[in-house]
Amino acid sequence: MANYWNREIECMSREDMKKLQDERLVAQVKHVYENVPYYKNLMDEKGVTPDDIKSTDDLHKLPFLTKADLREAYPYGLLAKPLSECTEIHSTSGTTGKRVVAFYTKNDIDLWHDCCARAIVAAGGTKDDVCQVAYGYGLFTGGAGLDGGSHKVGCLTLPMSSGNTERQIQFMMDLESTILCCTPSYAAYIGETLKEMGYTPDDIKLKAGIFGAEPWTEEMRREIEKSLGIKAYDIYGLTETSGPGVSFECSEQTGMHINEDHFIAEIIDPDTGEVLPEGSKGELVFTSITKEAFPLLRYRTRDICVLTREKCSCGRTLIKMCKPMGRSDDMLIIRGVNVFPSQIETVLIEQGYAPNYLIEVDRKNNVDTLDINVELTEEQFSDTVKDIQKKEAELVEAIKTILGINPKVHLVSPKTIARSEGKAVRVIDKRKLHD
Ligand code: ADP
Ligand code: ZN
Repeated sequence: MANYWNREIECMSREDMKKLQDERLVAQVKHVYENVPYYKNLMDEKGVTPDDIKSTDDLHKLPFLTKADLREAYPYGLLAKPLSECTEIHSTSGTTGKRVVAFYTKNDIDLWHDCCARAIVAAGGTKDDVCQVAYGYGLFTGGAGLDGGSHKVGCLTLPMSSGNTERQIQFMMDLESTILCCTPSYAAYIGETLKEMGYTPDDIKLKAGIFGAEPWTEEMRREIEKSLGIKAYDIYGLTETSGPGVSFECSEQTGMHINEDHFIAEIIDPDTGEVLPEGSKGELVFTSITKEAFPLLRYRTRDICVLTREKCSCGRTLIKMCKPMGRSDDMLIIRGVNVFPSQIETVLIEQGYAPNYLIEVDRKNNVDTLDINVELTEEQFSDTVKDIQKKEAELVEAIKTILGINPKVHLVSPKTIARSEGKAVRVIDKRKLHD
């Protein structure tokens, strides 16, 4: 039986949800137009006024906002409430450039934590659980969001933050944590460390993990589930829309339900800006219809994704988004071929390697080069040189089949690729340094 935090909203009929969104959108556009001169200018330039927005059917008339706008308006240019009404600030991790800041009123914080509570409950969480939050605390939204959600649900909350992995495991055992929240790459590292410390998943009480903030593959999910003896749930969000909890996975584990009472999602063609029909692959765009202090309208996430309204066995009627296939700016163009790091991760794990790898792209004599460093496990490391060469050749073949280009694969000694306690760095593109 599925668990809901807010059954009325999570299982609302399409008609009722649309009505709720329509009302909230109309009010939000007015609020933004009147309080954010930066966005008013964008609307004026496009010749749109709040009166033109009568329902969600008119959403497409509004201008987009991009990360470049956020940087231009930094720090206060998109603020829609007086600072005296704001109680918190968070900032992006700066994965793809200069950080941007987001502001929250007390009510914004409450609604955000509520979204995270939905995620925890969908993963089976109740007030009887011990929830270990190993996302970073501070400016990053991961720690603060899941911490707030955990408090709302009434779990015993362990505000560990990230890092000090052996201590994480010690607490996990001593305090019998049942839910772990962190990035998937950190979850994999915790699983690896557990094994190194001589324990098995039977020695811990974890039952579920809520992992997000970075792309991860289905293969990685299975690895983590095995190494920690849990069910691993995906959670998605970005600082610009509050943080984690924009969408969350249910027991079906086939994509994340978007909290549509707070966010309207669209998929657009990233080149033309045209809205694409349900089921199409494109760039995810969010409009926040309840946020007060930092309400972004039609914000382009650059995340590549697919939306679906297919019926979900959990009973929720909220639209679902697939695992983001990576950001449009994560995509590498190597010798003219589009390559997502996740495609490489899939092959590596399928071939029995741990998710410890580093992709290096460079340009030599005007030709792009692709080098993939893959760490061997202790067991694989004992192989002879001949075996290792054979393994490298097999990996080259497997990757070539998927990508259509020839990589160089280097199998490296155990523990030589840096582990991640937050968002993993999987790619070094040296071409950017030369440009
Ligand atoms: P930054 O943009 O600096 O990384 P954020 O910490 O706000 O700042 O990260 C938000 C981004 O993280 C999203 O736009 C998305 O690309 C990525 N992300 C968040 N959750 C997930 C997830 N579950 N799967 C894949 N990517 C995710
Ligand atoms: Zn579901």
